[in-house]
Amino acid sequence: MLGLMQDWPLLIPKIIDHAGLYHGGRKVISRSIEGPIVETTYSDIRRNALRVAKRLEKDGIKLGDRIGTVAWNTWRHLEVWYGITGIGAIYHTLNPRLFPEQIAWIANHAEDRMMLVDLTFVPLMEKLADKLPTVERFVVLTDGAHMPQTSLKNAVAYEDWLNEVDDDFAWKSFDENTAAGMCYTSGTTGNPKGVVYSHRSNVIHSLMCNAPDMLGLSSRDVMLPVVPMFHANGWSLAFTAPMAGTSLVMPGAKMDGASIAELLVTYKVTHSAAVPTVWLMLLQELEKTGQMLPDLTKVIIGGSACPRAVTEKFRDVYGAEVMHAWGMTEMSPIGTLCSLKPEYADLTGDAWLDIKETTGHPPFGVEMKIVDDARQELARDGKAFGRLMVRGPAVAGSYFKREGGEILDADGFFDTGDVASIDPYGYMRIVDRSKDVIKSGGEWISSIDLENLAVGHPDVAEAAVIGVVHPKWDERPLLIVVPKAGRTPTRDGLLAFMEGKIAKWWMPDDVVVVDEIPHTATGKIQKTTLREQFKAYRFP
Ligand code: ADP
Repeated sequence: MLGLMQDWPLLIPKIIDHAGLYHGGRKVISRSIEGPIVETTYSDIRRNALRVAKRLEKDGIKLGDRIGTVAWNTWRHLEVWYGITGIGAIYHTLNPRLFPEQIAWIANHAEDRMMLVDLTFVPLMEKLADKLPTVERFVVLTDGAHMPQTSLKNAVAYEDWLNEVDDDFAWKSFDENTAAGMCYTSGTTGNPKGVVYSHRSNVIHSLMCNAPDMLGLSSRDVMLPVVPMFHANGWSLAFTAPMAGTSLVMPGAKMDGASIAELLVTYKVTHSAAVPTVWLMLLQELEKTGQMLPDLTKVIIGGSACPRAVTEKFRDVYGAEVMHAWGMTEMSPIGTLCSLKPEYADLTGDAWLDIKETTGHPPFGVEMKIVDDARQELARDGKAFGRLMVRGPAVAGSYFKREGGEILDADGFFDTGDVASIDPYGYMRIVDRSKDVIKSGGEWISSIDLENLAVGHPDVAEAAVIGVVHPKWDERPLLIVVPKAGRTPTRDGLLAFMEGKIAKWWMPDDVVVVDEIPHTATGKIQKTTLREQFKAYRFP
């Protein structure tokens, strides 16, 4: 017997309907690409999203078509995501920090029919235009007054394009499993792969994120997503915040410490989300200016391991709680978040930091387990570590065009490529990426743990650890550091600092000081490039 409740498909436009109708006056404040701050509301966003949907239909866009966006976080990017999904077309965010050839490869693979681009990226697109045969029209996300002269095909200023229609439109209806969005993973090996989110997966994922032990956003909060919408489904904040009626502050193209600090203070931001490098920059800026952040309560940090020193500084100096999160593009992206369950709620001092250093526990809707090389499940004792496997309604089942073939095991679990431990209360600790872990004499050393420790040294701005070939142990750790401005860390000083804080055999065999560490397009340390750079390196 089936249940007798209503069939109410989980479609994304219902989120902006809810925000527009029940949180209509809540603000979306953006630093525009043109310069000035622009204030809109969820009610405005909803109206304009309806116009985007109507206007796209006029251009012949239909169910299943991919629409590329190359844009920063602004109200316009938000409007177009909702408008695109409102007719069953697919928002496809492209990461402008990738190499131009990669961007063209991805747009061609996705067969994007239209490209919506910020002013910043018009020159980039002009260079690529003749490599994008599927793109029929470029819409520049600006108004007529700021529209540049451009050779882009059928180019039009967004506001002019939108002004051709009114908002008298009804969202199209379709199955909740219809594709809604696409985001390619950076693919450190081989070509990038397209993850295809559905309406259902995005809506369920946002409900998961809004649980009190996860982001737990409310209509009393103000969220500043520094993480760009083109990075891992924008951490889903474009859905999660409107669903909760949370005001948004969108940073546009400016993500340096001073610009972010200004927004945090001026707009009384309570929650903000970004990768660790952004927070490191912000903390450096705040140290310089002495500015405080009286309204900020939650700092969501993910994408790479969050250094302990960052969590400590936010707690002790700025009175804000770091919520360390782990996720992947393939997971929409949330996997776990570190809020404190009763078992850990009373911890203080270093014991609190120890738990905050883990990536926390999963929400309802993420199943996870760790397995050994023979795929046998390992104990959840906080000690055993192995490959982390995940399953859930917002986890990828295959990649676009089935690239990479079958990606799930016989039980439907996806191999994350991460190595982790899980403690008895479900707190997960990332040990490493399976390809970055250092294999010393048949045992594993976590490069992440060593990096976290090294960045705690007062002279170090950034640290990376890679395995270097060793005649006796196969591989041994090499610590590579970038000094803080005006400081000169030394090998002996650093090793003395680390001594006693880790097992003796984990100690790096050498330290190299460099001016810069290479990063991927999503701000992570590019270990492949580093390994290439230090290919010929031999320990003294
Ligand atoms: P990209 O490689 O395109 O940046 P993702 O954002 O999907 O793709 O990267 C996901 C990976 O990032 C995870 O598998 C994990 O290795 C790493 N990661 C994410 N969050 C954390 C974290 N809190 N600590 C350590 N590693 C993390």
